[in-house]
Amino acid sequence: MINEKSYALGANRSCIRDLFEYGCQRAAIVGRENVYDYSLGNPSIPSPKEVNETICAVLSDTDSLAVHGYTSAVGDFAMRSAIADDLNERYNAGAAPEDFFIMGGAAPELVAVFRALAVPGSELLAVAPYFPEYKPFAEEAGFLFKVVPPDVPDFQIKLDAVEAMLTEKTQAIILNSPNNPSGVVYTREVLTELAALLERKGKEYGHPIYIVSDEPYRELAYGVEVPFLPLIYPNTIVCYSYSKSLSLPGERIGYVYVPKAAADSRTVYAAVAGAARACGHVCAPSLWQKVIARCAKLRPDLAAYDINRKTLYEGLTAMGYEMAKPDGAFYLFIKAPGGDANAFSEKAKQKDLLLVPGDGFGCPGYFRICYCVSLEMIRKSLPVFKALIEE
Ligand code: PLP
Repeated sequence: MINEKSYALGANRSCIRDLFEYGCQRAAIVGRENVYDYSLGNPSIPSPKEVNETICAVLSDTDSLAVHGYTSAVGDFAMRSAIADDLNERYNAGAAPEDFFIMGGAAPELVAVFRALAVPGSELLAVAPYFPEYKPFAEEAGFLFKVVPPDVPDFQIKLDAVEAMLTEKTQAIILNSPNNPSGVVYTREVLTELAALLERKGKEYGHPIYIVSDEPYRELAYGVEVPFLPLIYPNTIVCYSYSKSLSLPGERIGYVYVPKAAADSRTVYAAVAGAARACGHVCAPSLWQKVIARCAKLRPDLAAYDINRKTLYEGLTAMGYEMAKPDGAFYLFIKAPGGDANAFSEKAKQKDLLLVPGDGFGCPGYFRICYCVSLEMIRKSLPVFKALIEE
């Protein structure tokens, strides 16, 4: 006998991975340059050169046993301290090293935070469109996963829908801004109104409703503010990752931040540590903790993403495609001409243009483009988009 839920999760691969693998197969047949693969959010700008230089510096100036040995489960003090300094400098956050728990990226952090917060019968809200992995993470943690319908066409947050879905059992709402898949950045205004709503409802229910803020794209914004949520709503738990900001998705490094101002902050922190322990967390990669301790203030150079973003947004809107303004991350979320995103993506696939239908993001009728690709590929793909909309 095996665990049925785990089997189902493992046996049904994600449609994004399927599409990516299909692209690799097609590339072997027709040539990589003839496949327009917009499926996967793998960063296409290299890590800042300081990252590689820092790896060399750490390897040469730090005792090898310390570099490769276990660290404490919560993470090296130096990294936690560097992050606190950075957040305090940028946002006046009032953060301290003991507020951080270092883990291997946003995915395991979300798992640990969900497991720390879920109590039997409790509910988690996610705002559509949302990152598909939230659902298995939340359900395995024991939450009832509830989806707030999308706020079309802007993809901000439908506050009346949130209010209608809140119950006494709501423990948390997961937010992701800049957003995967919409590329939208939630405005300060909408976040402030959401904070007031959660504050009021939390008082009414007699327990806090937490925001879990999933922030792999915090640094990827193009000329707009990404408000720092803990300063708008203290009951915010941040899951941060360097996967996208420093183009390090394969290295697995990030942190959970439980601000002291959050309700039951120390208890939540201990529960995150306990949940991580129960998932087999020992410590985050030690070398990377040492590197981030010295690189916490580095920011990406977004120039290449920005050119891709503008080329696609301007090119596609001129053809008649409709989408929300993509102010952040590296995604566009586009209304499928004809209304059926699966049919549209299938037609695109026949022309070796790989687009991800929005159903898995809780938003049928749209498809996602990851523009962390080469500008040349974008330019070559535009006539294919044109042919498709004209069809
Ligand atoms: N959350 C969102 C919204 C993402 O897009 C991703 C990865 O694409 C993750 C979490 C997981 O990121 P990480 O590589 O830090 O685990």
